[in-house]
Amino acid sequence: MKFEDFKLSNELLRNIKEIGYEQPTDIQIKSIPLIMEGKDVIGESATGSGKTLAFGTIIAEKIIPNHGIQALIITPTRELANQVKDSLKLISKHKNLNIAAIYGGVAIDPQINILRKAEVVVSTPGRLCDHLQRNTINLSKVNILVLDEADRMFEMGFIEDIEKIIRACPKERQNLFFSATISDNIRKLAQKYMNSPVKVSVNNLVDPEKLKQIYYNVSRNMKLSLLVYLLEHEKSGLVMVFCNTRRNVDFIAKNLQANKIKAIPIHGGLSQNKRNNTIELFNDAKVQVLVCTDVASRGLHIDNVSHIYNYDIPKNPKDYVHRIGRTARAGEEGKVINILSEEDHGNMSSILREYSFKIEKM
Ligand code: ADP
Ligand code: MG
Repeated sequence: MKFEDFKLSNELLRNIKEIGYEQPTDIQIKSIPLIMEGKDVIGESATGSGKTLAFGTIIAEKIIPNHGIQALIITPTRELANQVKDSLKLISKHKNLNIAAIYGGVAIDPQINILRKAEVVVSTPGRLCDHLQRNTINLSKVNILVLDEADRMFEMGFIEDIEKIIRACPKERQNLFFSATISDNIRKLAQKYMNSPVKVSVNNLVDPEKLKQIYYNVSRNMKLSLLVYLLEHEKSGLVMVFCNTRRNVDFIAKNLQANKIKAIPIHGGLSQNKRNNTIELFNDAKVQVLVCTDVASRGLHIDNVSHIYNYDIPKNPKDYVHRIGRTARAGEEGKVINILSEEDHGNMSSILREYSFKIEKM
């Protein structure tokens, strides 16, 4: 299957070539034809499988410059809003669209001006609701509504905001819901607001051939030294170290730095500017190790992550799946290293009950 088979405009095909995509991914193959036909689509596939381009194609083809906000994309986090905005800009380059990334934690006034000119808005739920309340956003022209990482938005408790936003959109519109997993909550929301949706699913969450998962079992006070040892001895590209709490993130980052490892922390307690800078430094490989919480990392695309360390094992098995989805992307190899001590055993057992991963003991 080639991009040429999708009946896309020459301009869009050229943009896709320029970005460097040679072939569509599985979720793109399954969803783009339906999306281009104007159908409501629920797309289920793993993080990193190329969902942005799946909904990006219709946006690049259909949105008309200077005709008001016609596409609205809701994402769970600020980082993701920025990332989706950047991708859409590349995909729709020939139209020079005004694409606004709207999120909280920064001043609201500059956003009001940006919103007046925008044709496409990528926003987190909370700040969008603020704009609705203040009447500083006009959704009357919206004809494409995308929920990106829908499962995550449910987990983060955004459902009321999302329903408010959906109801503020015109009834005549195309709905696209994307998620790594489709829960009952999403099914219910779809039933309520979508128009005969078609579900497409690409199931293999991680390619076990490309992803090696191992664990160490140590006493709690040995975790940090083991992490330092492994970081110094494992040959790796970019590395993400996941912790369950902001406090651990700060603690680990500080201690890695003290051991002359180029590490940088990211979590929801840091200012938006700081988070953006951090992601940039990491993406440009100016620091090798990103120490992070789940919230800060969800849905971000970071290239060349070779190793995922779980310094804490997440309580929610889905978070584990999302963490490990950061590596072994697009056919690359990856390795997941779990550093367990006594208090992680419960969480690890829940993960293994839910998913049949092969995790080798070291
Ligand atoms: P998801 O939203 O499913 O997590 P993204 O849309 O963020 O995935 O895409 C993940 C990565 O794969 C991005 O770096 C993106 O540029 C890249 N990508 C998307 N589509 C393709 C493709 N057809 N070929 C190669 N790389 C792609
Ligand atoms: Mg995505």
